[in-house]
Amino acid sequence: MKRVVMKFGGSSVATIEKIKKVAEILKRRKNGMNDIVCVVSAMGDTTDELLSLAGALSKNPSRRELDMLLATGEMVSASLLAIALNEIGEKAIALNGAQAGFEVKGRYGFAKVVDVNTSRIERELSEDNIVIVTGFQGMNSKEDFSTLGRGGSDTSAVAIASKLGVDCEIYTDVDGIYTVDPRFHSEAKKLSKVFYDEAMEMAHLGAKIIDPRSVEIAKKYGIRIYVALNSANVLGTYIGEENVEESIISNLSVQDNILLVKKTLRNESVAELFLNLAKEDVNIDIISKMDTEGKTLVRFTSVVDERDLIEKVADDFEFVENVSKVSIIGNAMRNQPGVAARVFDLLNSNGINFHGLSTSEISISIIVDTLVKEKVMSLLIREFEL
Ligand code: ADP
Ligand code: ASP
Ligand code: MG
Repeated sequence: MKRVVMKFGGSSVATIEKIKKVAEILKRRKNGMNDIVCVVSAMGDTTDELLSLAGALSKNPSRRELDMLLATGEMVSASLLAIALNEIGEKAIALNGAQAGFEVKGRYGFAKVVDVNTSRIERELSEDNIVIVTGFQGMNSKEDFSTLGRGGSDTSAVAIASKLGVDCEIYTDVDGIYTVDPRFHSEAKKLSKVFYDEAMEMAHLGAKIIDPRSVEIAKKYGIRIYVALNSANVLGTYIGEENVEESIISNLSVQDNILLVKKTLRNESVAELFLNLAKEDVNIDIISKMDTEGKTLVRFTSVVDERDLIEKVADDFEFVENVSKVSIIGNAMRNQPGVAARVFDLLNSNGINFHGLSTSEISISIIVDTLVKEKVMSLLIREFEL
């Protein structure tokens, strides 16, 4: 029997009707002689709703209890899908992250997958079950549920696929990966293939379509990811080794809620500052340092959610909110000099002020006030024909 791992996101299982549709899709696939592992996200906005329930009780709920709570979202959708499958005559079993063998470590809410012990999944497959696995969760060394961070179900699916040595199909509410989020730019073009590094970069730089860690795992184990629409037979996008797109820039991604942090160093070194931030596990992105008149000014970006953690380190940080990061990504940028110059020129000639700019081998990111984000996006879309 051919094996497949299929993942359905929150919008694909948002209602009972949609769960029935997914059950029909799985049944058809099963009858096409496939062994199926299906990873699901929580129904619709369940994760947000659970978070706001906790928020109604506490401003600062225990991270452990939050993960206990959030892990239930996926258990609801997984068990309902198994019930729906049983109802149409298919053998199916739902497993939560611990039952499915997900061993995780790290901060609650940001856990990393260490390993997936697939023996239970294997056993259930050998008993002819369609195996439904909850995304986004695993068990840590304290035998507590820990979640993988928002969007983490993609990573759960790819982790299982990697262990089973098969490709991973990710079904969502768009029919593939586009040059720009089609919700923002309706004329964006669909990409038939995306290189691992590009997909990783676009996901890290804000494209919500796929969890960056899932692409990292896929690349490491050499499996392909296929992103497609949950309900129609339209060809989607493959993420893999080869890249056939010819344009220099294949994607524009945006990340909102960037936090710009400034600090004048007095009695500490730059190293001390970042060591202290690291002790608090603060997520830091672009760093710059300037020495003027015997003073050292440090600026870095993080995300608004990390502000509380940063404030624990010192009380004289200056914060700027309502900041976004607009990025362009393209594998062909590696051997195409002059892209940064084109971006600088574009910003300059249109009078756009930016807080900072950073580059990697295959991307350029511009930090701007959220107020001018859309203007910057439109300029870049036109300039690079996205
Ligand atoms: P799921 O619930 O299935 O995990 P997500 O909401 O996490 O789905 O991701 C799908 C969404 O990603 C789409 O609705 C789309 O608006 C957004 N998106 C962002 N960037 C892109 C892109 N470059 N191509 C396609 N979709 C994108
Ligand atoms: N339910 C989780 C979230 O909303 C995980 C996921 O959907 O991938 O972030
Ligand atoms: Mg998602």
